[in-house]
Amino acid sequence: MKDYLESEPIIIERGEGITLIDVNGTRFYDGVSSIWLNVHGHCNSDINQAIIDQIKKISHSTLLGQANVPAVLLAEKIINVSPKNLTKVFYSDSGSEAVEIGLKIAYQYWKLKGQTKKKSFIAMTNAYHGDTIGATSVGGMDLFHATYRDLLFKTYRSPYPDIYRFEGTKDECRVDCIKKIEALINLRHEEIAGLIVEPVVQGAAGMIIMPDGFMKEIEAICKANNILLLADEVATGFGRTGKLFACEYDQVKPDIMMIAKGLTGGYLPLAATLTSEAVYSEFLGDYSGKKTFFHGHSYTGNQLGCAAAIANIDLFEKNKIIDSLAEKSSLMSRLLNELDVHPHVGDIRIKGMMAGIELVKDKDSKLSYPWENKMGTKVCDECRKLGMIIRPLGNVVIFMPPLVSANEELADMISILTRAIKTVCT
Ligand code: PLP
Repeated sequence: MKDYLESEPIIIERGEGITLIDVNGTRFYDGVSSIWLNVHGHCNSDINQAIIDQIKKISHSTLLGQANVPAVLLAEKIINVSPKNLTKVFYSDSGSEAVEIGLKIAYQYWKLKGQTKKKSFIAMTNAYHGDTIGATSVGGMDLFHATYRDLLFKTYRSPYPDIYRFEGTKDECRVDCIKKIEALINLRHEEIAGLIVEPVVQGAAGMIIMPDGFMKEIEAICKANNILLLADEVATGFGRTGKLFACEYDQVKPDIMMIAKGLTGGYLPLAATLTSEAVYSEFLGDYSGKKTFFHGHSYTGNQLGCAAAIANIDLFEKNKIIDSLAEKSSLMSRLLNELDVHPHVGDIRIKGMMAGIELVKDKDSKLSYPWENKMGTKVCDECRKLGMIIRPLGNVVIFMPPLVSANEELADMISILTRAIKTVCT
């Protein structure tokens, strides 16, 4: 906060396409999609119109005991594009809430089945699932989570296959990690309600990409051991990794899936937790049986958010967004990989339209810059001067442009990033 107070604040007034414009009229590329949200650019006429059309009818009515038109239509659309076993949608307002809901559903599911010992979760090393207490409990990033440790529920930690730090091949890394997870599950499966994972890319950990096939193996282990698989697609969903959902890479069918961020194209706060029919039906019963899922938020199923999300999903289809991503991602790879020769650039991690560029003090040993040197922040500050807003995660600079960014815009943004790294990391 002190650093923020000492800096010149940027106050955004409007947006045009992939550009943010501040109160002084200065234009910046939105190089991080306003925290991994934006898909079709700002002020997209279709999404704007959908919100305007809806606002003329009604902005919000409760979803408690009743439904609303866009919430119903959106639920159907979400189910149509999600892994085929997922058939039910529970709305909320943020990714963290979607995670809380997923955890509570998994916990209650086993209780309702009479398996009362199954009340803990397995989560991955360096996982990030949001900032509320349940989401923090399954989080594994000390920097964000250690302060709150006394408030958190117990979670078993499984290793994540960090191919960038493992001494051996990607395959060996995958096998080693799976063995350790199997050992943990063999020991603890009777107590485990669910395993929660960021499929394919661990985002906040610094864009750590899983080895191919890892998710499929996790799915098989969960199935074999009566453990629900919770896929947190909050960051990876809606095209970020190059497919609509990261689970599609290995045709994984999670029991519970969380979506948020790109759900409304980055326009309004809306999230959802999807479940399989088997999970849902465990909550059906007579009133006296108290099988109710006791969870809800005042703005759940908000009509404006749902209208924006419908327009967002329609635009994915209309503009063939997913088909366009492979070319953009390979352009990003080609241009960002030119930084590989830089003496202070370590790993360059790219999956779809998610990229993390690691800044290192020493390239050969991959020795990090000390935290307090704030190298990531300094590079991002330099990018601002050059006309692009991005955010670091420690020493990893995150580049996550809106999915609609044109090739020339991508090249321009990466040129800014390259210049900033060359200026700061000398
Ligand atoms: N899960 C993942 C994987 C995330 O990356 C995030 C946010 O970055 C969240 C959950 C939390 O989402 P929100 O910030 O909408 O609460």
